[in-house]
Amino acid sequence: MQKRLSCLLPAASDECGSGLTDMHLHLNTAVTPSRLLRAAALQGVTHVCTMAAQLDDMPELFVLKQNFARQISVFVGCHPQYAATFDETRFNTYLRSPFVRGIGECGLDKRPAVLAVAPLEVQLAVLQGQLQAAYALDLPLSVHCVKAHAELLRLLRPFKGQLRLCLHGANLSAPLIEEYLKLNAYLSIGSLAFRPDCALLQCLRTADAHLRARILLESDYAGKLPCRHYYLKWLAALAPVVGLSVSELQARVARNGQEFFADGISLYSASAHCR
Ligand SMILES: [Zn+2]
Repeated sequence: MQKRLSCLLPAASDECGSGLTDMHLHLNTAVTPSRLLRAAALQGVTHVCTMAAQLDDMPELFVLKQNFARQISVFVGCHPQYAATFDETRFNTYLRSPFVRGIGECGLDKRPAVLAVAPLEVQLAVLQGQLQAAYALDLPLSVHCVKAHAELLRLLRPFKGQLRLCLHGANLSAPLIEEYLKLNAYLSIGSLAFRPDCALLQCLRTADAHLRARILLESDYAGKLPCRHYYLKWLAALAPVVGLSVSELQARVARNGQEFFADGISLYSASAHCR
């Protein structure tokens, strides 16, 4: 199986000329992070963005950054599940670290089990603070949203598409995709790539160039990958859905990842003028 999947990986000299980035995972949950990073690199994923689920994760993430400097980007944030424990002073202290490259994981989640520990009004206030910080510092965001797209869109619209936003792992309908694209969002796709009947993949089957330019790769690794050779299988599963060859999809997603991080250069000057 490994040999056959490896054949799908394009040569290093593709049009993008660099590796893929896993845009959302939790590397601190890996027993042996070096093994995970090595396995990812063998599949063409040379960089990962590791999220904080809660601020308590940050010391571990900084140690990982020291150990794997060039391979990882550290994000600081508070998953809605931990919104009730959010400490703004501590968040702002971490934000000033030169090791922090983005804000996440943040967002909203209206599942009953999450609302029981983090009421919606608390989640909204904590997310609002993180959005404002991302805008002020021009940092990329990784956003989690479950059953709360109306509320999330209401919070995002005042930023007029100037947030560097990546919506992570959300199974979106066509109208919601349109709303998020209007706000210049990227869509980070994880194991939904293996669910051909899901709404998101149905929409991607008719994806135009604009939507393809907004697709990012993620594993959402939090202790266990959904399958072996995950990244190669992700490319093989998604390529026919978006009407690209595996090699074209690899190049496209690599370029999207670079643009997601590079967008800040143009947005910084734009947002500075708007303030
Ligand atoms: Zn996550």
